[in-house]
Amino acid sequence: MNASPVRFALTFAVLQTLLTGAVEAWANDMMLADAQQKITRAGARASVTGSTENFTGQVRVEPVWSVDENSNVSGGLVSFEPGARSAWHTHPAGQRLVVISGVGLTQEWGKPVQQIRPGDVIWCPPGVKHWHGAAPNSPMTHLAVTGTVNGKNVSWMEKVTDEQYDAR
Ligand code: MN
Repeated sequence: MNASPVRFALTFAVLQTLLTGAVEAWANDMMLADAQQKITRAGARASVTGSTENFTGQVRVEPVWSVDENSNVSGGLVSFEPGARSAWHTHPAGQRLVVISGVGLTQEWGKPVQQIRPGDVIWCPPGVKHWHGAAPNSPMTHLAVTGTVNGKNVSWMEKVTDEQYDAR
């Protein structure tokens, strides 16, 4: 049997597939070889004071990482002096809090205030109204890991009143 045009076409297609695969693998290897770790040094990002509009008491926010082409989630270290807390708010993509130090408080709208301690991880689902802050007699620092939707990661609401904060 002679090599028919069909057999030739099939052979060509197989060779083309193999070659394309090899080129893609090579390109991937080159990209991986090009990728490298990036270390952002401590102190490279300026910390900011929590705005009096959105926080009660003394609060300092240290940006840790920003949204970029790899992730739509940002991280920030937030330090609350004793008695300091956020205003009520929601997050369009939710938020994880990891308590780093001190003793803190958090509350979901309509639910009891809860104490949070170092190592505790709090997941707040999208759209759930809540606040977080320090306990009255202890500072508290947490890492806040917050997703972004259309460039927005929080919707601020009214302040937490002393009555709400003290209702424990
Ligand atoms: Mn929050």
